[in-house]
Amino acid sequence: MFEHALRAGAIGTLALPNRIIMGSMHLGVESEGAALAAFYAERARGGAGLIVTGGSSVSRVGAGGRNYSFINDSAGAPPLRRAVEAVHDANGRIALQLFHAGRYAFFASFGLQPVAPSAVASRFSPDPPHALSEEEILATIVDFARGAERARALGFDAVEVMASEGYLLNQFVSPLTNRREDAWGGDLERRMKLPRAVLGAIRERVGRDFPVIFRISGADLMKDSTSDEETLSFARALASDGVDALNVGIGWHESPIPTVQQMVPNGVWVRVAAAVKSAVGDLPVIASNRINSLAMADGVLAAGSVDFVSMARPFLADAQIVQKAARGEAALVNTCIACNQACLDRSLLDEPITCMVNPRAVRELEFPEGVEDRAHEPGRFAVIGGGPAGMEAARALAALGHRVELFEADAELGGQFRMARRIPGKHDFGETIRYFTNELARLGVIVRLNHRIAAGDRSSLRAFDGIVLATGVVPRRVALAGADLPNVVSYADALLHDRVSGERVAIVGAGGIGVDVAHYLSYGEANVDESTRFLYEQGLAAPEAGLLVVGRKEVALFRRGARIGESIGKTTRWAVLGALRSAGVQFFTDARYEVILADGVRFRDAAGEERVVRADTVVIAAGQERNDALLSVIAPLAVPYRVVGGAKDAAELNAVRAFEEGLRAAHELASVKEPRRKGQGRDAAHRLR
Ligand code: SF4
Repeated sequence: MFEHALRAGAIGTLALPNRIIMGSMHLGVESEGAALAAFYAERARGGAGLIVTGGSSVSRVGAGGRNYSFINDSAGAPPLRRAVEAVHDANGRIALQLFHAGRYAFFASFGLQPVAPSAVASRFSPDPPHALSEEEILATIVDFARGAERARALGFDAVEVMASEGYLLNQFVSPLTNRREDAWGGDLERRMKLPRAVLGAIRERVGRDFPVIFRISGADLMKDSTSDEETLSFARALASDGVDALNVGIGWHESPIPTVQQMVPNGVWVRVAAAVKSAVGDLPVIASNRINSLAMADGVLAAGSVDFVSMARPFLADAQIVQKAARGEAALVNTCIACNQACLDRSLLDEPITCMVNPRAVRELEFPEGVEDRAHEPGRFAVIGGGPAGMEAARALAALGHRVELFEADAELGGQFRMARRIPGKHDFGETIRYFTNELARLGVIVRLNHRIAAGDRSSLRAFDGIVLATGVVPRRVALAGADLPNVVSYADALLHDRVSGERVAIVGAGGIGVDVAHYLSYGEANVDESTRFLYEQGLAAPEAGLLVVGRKEVALFRRGARIGESIGKTTRWAVLGALRSAGVQFFTDARYEVILADGVRFRDAAGEERVVRADTVVIAAGQERNDALLSVIAPLAVPYRVVGGAKDAAELNAVRAFEEGLRAAHELASVKEPRRKGQGRDAAHRLR
């Protein structure tokens, strides 16, 4: 099983136990040695063949943000050294990524104007760059080389040079951002000169034996940028210069084409890395982006078009993704669902990241769950509600060694995720339900489905050492004339029970759920597979027979405010709204509803004009309300309890918060039960309420 992914390999002189590389992620805790070490060590123990750190800036002006690591600063060494030691103690291997943001840097980070090959502003940073002088270019080369030398001295097993995703070295290769007419710009030969000089300078400092990987951009996905032929020429040039492997990135931060979002089909970018591989012969090539399972990685490697697979976010979602697969426990892998909400979206805000479906990620020290952290005296806990918050609370309590019963009123775990998995691109939300269902069973959690806790259960609830109330939300009803008509349904009816009839649909409410409903109803079915459809819709390829989509509904999406999908994360919102636009969804913002009719919605538009949009079905997606009626039953029981997720706050239904609160509630309740080891006592119970 997974023989191709689990086969040993090598990058230069570095032997690797398997073909799975944990890709670079900026964590936001790079200056905190203990947290960094704990995070990486857990991934090393989990079987990552090689770990690549988040970008470590080679200079302040090249920083991606204030909380980056700085390889050339003396203060940057201790946390990095600690991470290296922890990974090596865990029998792992770790490479430092050498990073320079170029025009993607921010003045606000250190009061420095960003630099670039030419003074070409980006849409990513508000701060226009200045063109590097010859002297500054030479200093930048030295910065990279010193960084590599320091990385080797700190014990790193390799370095990866970031020359992708639109950062400085990528900017030099691209004619879009490199408008120079000196030795560092012009034809491809001169545009490649800086990255090649960086590689040469690194080699001079670290020798031929120290592995150097280049992360190159396989496809910039930017108009008028580097052509495919030039990209392959660049790859060949680095190969002839003695690079040890090429890791192939996709797209720039400014690309108008989504690259890592949910609607990007898994595996769609492998073809780009395969093209690079075909250009460089025996040189190891690493495929990355939108590969989120060992099964898919194994299939990619079995096809033989690349040598390694890099996965980044999947290691956030599950540190043990490789180990579990090796043990034949792939069904127990917590799958990355490409939501970006707790990782990339936070990273862009310069905040420490974590993972929606694994809120322990990057907080391994705050929420320890090793064997040594298990309860000496197992307690008995009830979790009421099996949505995200409840599933995570039950998992964490059980992982801490407690006996847990989870009560779920429906026939299946998952809560709102049961709806989400039906949305185009969100089918992996079903993997989260699969994971928790299997993991809770493995941990011995007693899951009681179709079991609605009620006031009559008081006495049995009293027998527990703690209770987590995670009963989620119910769709909000709107006080709008016509809301009781038979053509009006809730978003839950639309997504769970397909209670939408007719071809024309009006959706009242355009937050995250309204957008999801619009996407679901307007997507239709195509005559080609998902990858072909995606490439066609993004203008990257044309299916031979053309694209035919059937079954789309005509959707009108109404919002009382000005921004459709306001709560959707920054990295995803633009992409999903683009998908809705191309599906013909009509947007009405600043709408004032007047009445729902038997055949539509009457409203005043942003200009104050009365209008009617005809619809066969009207879907209400106007938010939700706390489903916390059981609070009045639980609160008087004198049993420590926690209210989490939508049952606590339905205002901004947020799965990241729900999972986090489930985890935190579990650890806090466990601390009350286990006062000796956690430094708290039963008197802390009151505080938990
Ligand atoms: Fe994946 Fe979402 Fe977790 Fe990021 S937050 S690692 S995208 S599941």
